[in-house]
Amino acid sequence: SYNRVLEIHKQHISPVVTAYFQKPLLLHQGHMEWLFDFEGNRYLDFFSGIVTVSVGHCHPKVNAAAQKQLGCLWHTSSIFFHPPMHEYAEKLSALLPEPLKVIFLTNSGSEANDLAMLMARVYSNNTDIISFRGAYHGCSPYTLGLTNVGSYKMELPSGMGCQATMCPDVFRGPWGGSHCRDSPVQTIRKCNCATDCCQAKDQYIEQFKDTLNTSVAKSIAGFFAEPIQGVNGVVQYPKGFLKEAFELVRERGGVCIADEVQTGFGRLGSHFWGFQTHDVLPDIVTMAKGIGNGFPMAAVVTTPEIAKSLAKRVLHFNTFGGNPMACAIGSAVLEVIKEDRLQENSQEVGTYMLLKFAKLRDEFEIVGDVRGKGLMIGIEMVKDKMSRQPLPREEINQIHEDCKQMGLLIGRGGIFSQTLRIAPSMCITKPEVDFAVEVFHSALIQHME
Ligand code: PMP
Repeated sequence: SYNRVLEIHKQHISPVVTAYFQKPLLLHQGHMEWLFDFEGNRYLDFFSGIVTVSVGHCHPKVNAAAQKQLGCLWHTSSIFFHPPMHEYAEKLSALLPEPLKVIFLTNSGSEANDLAMLMARVYSNNTDIISFRGAYHGCSPYTLGLTNVGSYKMELPSGMGCQATMCPDVFRGPWGGSHCRDSPVQTIRKCNCATDCCQAKDQYIEQFKDTLNTSVAKSIAGFFAEPIQGVNGVVQYPKGFLKEAFELVRERGGVCIADEVQTGFGRLGSHFWGFQTHDVLPDIVTMAKGIGNGFPMAAVVTTPEIAKSLAKRVLHFNTFGGNPMACAIGSAVLEVIKEDRLQENSQEVGTYMLLKFAKLRDEFEIVGDVRGKGLMIGIEMVKDKMSRQPLPREEINQIHEDCKQMGLLIGRGGIFSQTLRIAPSMCITKPEVDFAVEVFHSALIQHME
């Protein structure tokens, strides 16, 4: 029963494992973009298990591939070869530009970023790593030093040499960003910024240079960036910023790492990888979440040169990485993205959704900003557009809870948990978006009453 589950959770599950809602959801089944609880209620899943169920819950083609592999071979470890791994490596590398062709398979995003950090240090012979304020790159002891958002912000373990630098601050109010962000939303409300928005890139580049020149970052090994910050509340950089930042890092001998854990696999619509939307070519790309549609799986892709430098100097091994189940599932996910034209769907339905939610920004004082790309959208809630203060947590909690009551699950993000995050499976349809916008609209009306 529901109460028994709550009791066991309290007694036996670590208290760091907290649930989203005041009354946690007890889920029973998933089918494509829908989730079902034990009472038979259905929910449109607009967060897809934290931006993970890329092609849909229990997608029949992915299920079939998993079942086929399940009856064939589960595990060998990488000391033996098995075709699913090599088939997968060939498929994945075909989706990346030269010279990003060498793959190391891991089990989670944190683990992938751990390895990327190690690669950067070994290859560059330097130690310092730079990430952005507001970044989320994982929770392993190594990557926690890179993660720098909200409640994850903590003192860095000494010796990490990890330096959080500025990040274009989260937008709070009508001063734009859209203009700089190259967003279709600007067609609804023109950016009226003075300095904050249009000159933002140059300001941030100056700050970035300052960070690079500090003593900590002088021997830079690597620079990590999410193409769009996810956990921080769908934060986008001004146009051209990342490209210049990459150049500055490389001038100092560091390598550039794109963390595609949330942005990869077609979610952003216009491109398969988030880094492509910035017109940059990273030295290392890390990926997880959507790669396995919910099956634990992740990868690091790099150049032959960087891969070789690691192999020469460091022992790196994990038992489960690239196991037959993960690879068979990963291959099926890639096939489904292509066959079902899911990247195209992200573009079309994502843009449709962004524009629909942006209309609510014009209607409601508390909707401060609507931003994002493809199926990665953030709705930043504010007290009012003048003050740009975040809407108090309890009020956002209520809106979030009301959406759930009406059958819509959405995510949260940002330092004050003030940004509602939308990232459904990429099979989402326009009528489902209409339903979600209606629900959110009702929740806002309820809030005003
Ligand atoms: N990078 C990014 C951008 C993420 O969003 C996350 C997870 N939220 C991670 C890395 C860590 O992935 P995992 O939870 O699989 O370790």
